[in-house]
Amino acid sequence: MLKKERAAFIEKRLQELYPEQLIPLDHKDPYTLLVAVLLSAQCTDARVNQITPALFELADNPFDMAVQNVEVIRQIIRPCGLSPQKSSAIKRLSEILVEKFNGVVPQDMAALETLPGVGHKTASVVMSQAFGVPAFAVDTHIHRLAQRWGLTNGKNVVQTEKDLKSLFPKEKWNPLHLQIIFYGREYCSARGCDGTVCEICTTLYPKRKKPPTVYKP
Ligand code: SF4
Repeated sequence: MLKKERAAFIEKRLQELYPEQLIPLDHKDPYTLLVAVLLSAQCTDARVNQITPALFELADNPFDMAVQNVEVIRQIIRPCGLSPQKSSAIKRLSEILVEKFNGVVPQDMAALETLPGVGHKTASVVMSQAFGVPAFAVDTHIHRLAQRWGLTNGKNVVQTEKDLKSLFPKEKWNPLHLQIIFYGREYCSARGCDGTVCEICTTLYPKRKKPPTVYKP
């Protein structure tokens, strides 16, 4: 199969498997999504969803969060890991949103990336899931699967994002981002598979005998 044919098969199959793409992180607006995505770094979405009710009970908007004691924030978010860095980032980004953006999360990738604790991946998730703007955030699942499915050479996440964006139509980027994550979580763990087990790999590479090389992000 050519790369374009592989992409077309994957797009069709994932749409059949995951016709609906519920956003995994609980939130009620762009600000609460931004904070939840920030918390999800090196933490599961399930755990983030366990702690955000208490955090948003304390403060669910930049104005209220900006005046909180960082230690109080840290105690609440501690189960998510990296709590010193994440609590400082949440407080500081809330202050910046108040000072520079009138308390509104900017619908602008470059502006989002200037906020503490917000990298390209987090900004992409917020742009797509809060504002519906096409983006293709590449996390470890997507980076791994894109390589196992032969959609990229996987040198780094920047290249993977570029390759995926060129392979799929823009209007499919947001659903595919979630669909690939869902598939990765359900079927394709980082270890324990030689790339010859489940339906997508066996369809794409029926003659594959050994595991494909996968580069870490
Ligand atoms: S065969 Fe293995 S590597 Fe390929 S998608 Fe399935 S679980 Fe992932």
